[in-house]
Amino acid sequence: MPVLFVGHGSPMNAIEDSEFSRAWAAAARTLPKPKAVLCISAHWETEGTRVTAMEHPRMIYDFYGFPPALFEKRYPAPGSPDLARTAQGLVQGNRIELDSDWGLDHGAWAVLCRMFPKADVPVVQLSLDSGKAPAFHYQLGRELKGLRKKGVLIIGSGNIVHNLGEIEWADTAYDWALEFDARIKELILSGDHEAIIHYSRLGPSARLAVPTPEHFLPLLYVLGAQDESEQVEFFADKVTLGSMSMRSLRIG
Ligand code: ZN
Repeated sequence: MPVLFVGHGSPMNAIEDSEFSRAWAAAARTLPKPKAVLCISAHWETEGTRVTAMEHPRMIYDFYGFPPALFEKRYPAPGSPDLARTAQGLVQGNRIELDSDWGLDHGAWAVLCRMFPKADVPVVQLSLDSGKAPAFHYQLGRELKGLRKKGVLIIGSGNIVHNLGEIEWADTAYDWALEFDARIKELILSGDHEAIIHYSRLGPSARLAVPTPEHFLPLLYVLGAQDESEQVEFFADKVTLGSMSMRSLRIG
């Protein structure tokens, strides 16, 4: 099974037709049908790593100031306690806790409702342990790679450039945002994962592009799950809203 990173951007992509929502749907159509999805969303940070293990994950509307239609959106995908336990077992040393409180946040459902609109693919979410360095997240991606052979689609959902403090509600891009996005693209294509793990050393554009790590870290899980010889393809690659990279990629 391939692995995806999706630049999710605004939750409006869930209900508004856009070049991104279309690109996500098109990317999903080229995939073999997954048995289940394991989604690492920027919007679930915890102490320790958790994986959702309920049969029916609730929807979480973790945003403000959007139109009622977005709060009315439903995505009733089932969970998969089995997959949660399998993921837990793959990771060494009991480092993942089963969770019965979370559900699907918009990092997951806003993307998945475009990719699998019938909500017929079970979904579990994996949280980001906010106390850990980037190398930890990359290593966890490595350990979870075995899920691919079991027909599980691993999706990292975040944004390579994500600075809400600098957002402009227009289709435009700051130079530093373009620069950082292009640099990460190059490093992905050359397979230089070490440099991506140490992204904070990539100069002043890195500090502006990744002011906080949570939208960047899902990319590290996806790269961790890559086999060395595997190709990468980009199915969205635009920087918009000044400081938001929608770059999305498929591995394998
Ligand atoms: Zn987000």
